[in-house]
Amino acid sequence: MTPIQYSALSKLIVDAFDAREEIDKDSKYWNDKSVDLVRAEIKDHYIDDQHFKCVYCDREIVTANKSLWDAEHVISREKAARFMFTPRNLAVSCRDCNIAKGQKEVRTTTRQQFPDESRHYTIVHPHFDNYADHIRWVGDICVPISDKGETTQFVCRLTRFTAQLLGVSGVLDDPGFDRYVGELFKAKTKADAKAALAAVSTYVEDIPQA
Ligand SMILES: [Zn+2]
Repeated sequence: MTPIQYSALSKLIVDAFDAREEIDKDSKYWNDKSVDLVRAEIKDHYIDDQHFKCVYCDREIVTANKSLWDAEHVISREKAARFMFTPRNLAVSCRDCNIAKGQKEVRTTTRQQFPDESRHYTIVHPHFDNYADHIRWVGDICVPISDKGETTQFVCRLTRFTAQLLGVSGVLDDPGFDRYVGELFKAKTKADAKAALAAVSTYVEDIPQA
């Protein structure tokens, strides 16, 4: 992914914020009227750069209607306002993923300077990781293939698509179904596939009916 390069006017606003004392970096400044231009620029850049795909659920939203996209701070601005305009802390996501992720901590480090390596994050990072190395989708079922994939599934509640598929509301707190489908997908022998299929079927049977 290509980090945003701010226009001259936006850069003035961003630089002024970055020059503030730590204590004066208020996360609420994001919604200030004077930041309208910067926010719009950020959305335009990342919607285009991500080819209309959410960085967490990989779903395509083919619209330039910016209100359907959320500017996403990988490290939430409530957790660290100082990274509010850091290009590599920014992306766009769908509203559902953004709401699910909320203000959850996704760093593995407490360092003050910007964490700029993959290992500094517990989730798949849009700038430092390759999505396909961590999450695979089998239709609407999220199949994590790494620890980061699993954490992202949890943090962004990516089992919500499976829940819909199975006709249960909300998300599945236990991502068992996705895991078993993952096993099925990886099965090399007929016996493995049969065992995985049985597990999927048992799991579905055990879902409490409303
Ligand atoms: Zn999403």
